[in-house]
Amino acid sequence: MKLHLSKIAEGPSRHHLCLRVAALPRLAEVAVADGPETGEVSADLDVRMLAGAVEVRGALRVAMRVPCTMCLEPAEVRLEEPVAVVQAPVSMLNDLPDDLQLSQSDLNIDYFEGNEIDLVALTEEQVLLMLPEVVYCREDCQGICGGCKRNLNESECVCVPDNSDHPFAAMKSLLDDPPGRS
Ligand SMILES: [Zn+2]
Ligand SMILES: [Zn+2]
Repeated sequence: MKLHLSKIAEGPSRHHLCLRVAALPRLAEVAVADGPETGEVSADLDVRMLAGAVEVRGALRVAMRVPCTMCLEPAEVRLEEPVAVVQAPVSMLNDLPDDLQLSQSDLNIDYFEGNEIDLVALTEEQVLLMLPEVVYCREDCQGICGGCKRNLNESECVCVPDNSDHPFAAMKSLLDDPPGRS
């Protein structure tokens, strides 16, 4: 959804976006097959001019599935986060107005070329930034065994135990071969 600058200059506007994750290429790349109630991003955005740039504020809601960090099975991500970004024209890159510099701590400043703001691309970018780095399919996910590669949530590890590391191994060797007998 693209907004022309001349339209934005006419006055503040509010936009509601409802997007499928599958239709957002960069997000679809990190997602896995969607369940019945996932695979959706929605945004409520207030757009207005601010010192020659475009300010976008609002809230994003995300329901999608990504691979579990531990076992790679689908894990659900549900987020509801505020968003506050300024889209400044590239001509401001080296000469940001004071008004914008003051608010920089609170706003993320991005630069754009041309005469349009793409709210879909902006939304996708913000969702990518807010996705957690670590996601678990469940709190006690057991992950995948590094040895037998089994998903330990579903089956037992079948690795052959290496007894030499076992704390009783030393004792066993003592019992097998008691000191002072030879
Ligand atoms: Zn998992
Ligand atoms: Zn194993």
